[in-house]
Amino acid sequence: MSQPTVNIRSLTLAGLEDFFREQGEQRYRAQQVYDWLWKKAARSFGEMTDISLKTRELLSQHFTFPAITVNTTQKSEDGTIKMSFRLHDGHIIEGVLIPSGDRMTACISSQVGCNLACKFCATGMIRYVRNLEFDEIFDQVAIIGETARIEYNFPLSHIVYMGMGEPLLNYHQVLKSIEKITGPEGMGMSTQRITVSTVGIAPMIRQLGNDMVRFNLAVSLHSAINEKRNRIIPYNLRNSLGDLTEAIKYFHQQTGTRITLEYIMLKNFNDNASDAKALAEFCKSFPVKINLIQYNPVENSPFEDSGPERTQAFKDYLDRKNLVVNIRRSRGKDIDAACGQLANKLLNKNL
Ligand code: SF4
Repeated sequence: MSQPTVNIRSLTLAGLEDFFREQGEQRYRAQQVYDWLWKKAARSFGEMTDISLKTRELLSQHFTFPAITVNTTQKSEDGTIKMSFRLHDGHIIEGVLIPSGDRMTACISSQVGCNLACKFCATGMIRYVRNLEFDEIFDQVAIIGETARIEYNFPLSHIVYMGMGEPLLNYHQVLKSIEKITGPEGMGMSTQRITVSTVGIAPMIRQLGNDMVRFNLAVSLHSAINEKRNRIIPYNLRNSLGDLTEAIKYFHQQTGTRITLEYIMLKNFNDNASDAKALAEFCKSFPVKINLIQYNPVENSPFEDSGPERTQAFKDYLDRKNLVVNIRRSRGKDIDAACGQLANKLLNKNL
């Protein structure tokens, strides 16, 4: 018999039912297997313990099951757990579990590498290889969720698409993964607990509006001055702040959702009074929440974190403009938890 080539998780429930019918098996088997795939998040046929060995063998003769596996795990002093995952073709991606207060957040990747080359980001230094499939994104959530239960006896409460890659350049697989994470046939999580973070791909933000998505959207702004943003986010040259403003306005009109602006505090680069003024101006076009993020320096980066005093002064200015602003400290500094840092090191060591 030839080697199977079809991924079992590419099948719909109806497709599985057809398969079992063709094999002369009972139709209800399809629902059992489907539940194992999505509700119970199995990552091998062997885990499907209430399915007979004969049926599991039949499945493995006809389908592949390219699940991701844990490659390394590091735990920070602050409780953050960083994991690297190996894909079926040997590539490495990463995800992070961030416990804080009553939240247990999984930060997950959407691409292997990234070709947008943002200057403050370790992933931008890793060449883009490929988009992740929706089941590879789903696996990260499942594994990080299992880790949360084992380490903290607590389920995942939030998911952020903020790891390696630009999620909106892998639009369909990202949305499909969210369907499986939130759908009743999958993990059944609330869409309100999911945030997709983008560097600001204007046409795809409009598409999110057209698709009336219910999850949260975060835009990595990092400067509200075009010329400065061009220097740290090369994509801004193709998609200016004007384009971004119009796309966010449209998204808000369509979904009614208030977006979050992420703003990494870079000393003497984007943390002056003129930067705060430009940011306040940018925020006039739609309702927003602003997160000021402590910078987690990456190797060979020219940037430094602004430090607490400059960050507080920046926040005070925005507060006076009646904007909703939070300061977010960086997590897992001792374990390279910034996006792309761990995978970068592993690649350099060929792990
Ligand atoms: S910040 Fe996001 S979009 Fe920019 S290089 Fe890093 S992963 Fe890519």
